[in-house]
Amino acid sequence: MTFLSGSLQAIQVELDARDKAQTMFDVDDVLKLCGDLQRVGLCIDCGHEQDGVGPHSERVVCEDCGEPCVYGAEACLTLMED
Ligand SMILES: [Zn+2]
Repeated sequence: MTFLSGSLQAIQVELDARDKAQTMFDVDDVLKLCGDLQRVGLCIDCGHEQDGVGPHSERVVCEDCGEPCVYGAEACLTLMED
């Protein structure tokens, strides 16, 4: 049952991430970031905007709070739209 509990845990992590992203950010703001050519990631834990994060990056360690909660703009949007 290790595999099953592992995937349930992964699903829970995704649900938590979605809730956090939706609480922390506005879809319109994230959309604007997606249109920028700058590589900016968003921390769904503390709201920090981190430079040098690719648009599809996930779970990058945040320079501000140290949690692996930074998502690229596109990844963040996907998270919020699911
Ligand atoms: Zn952070």
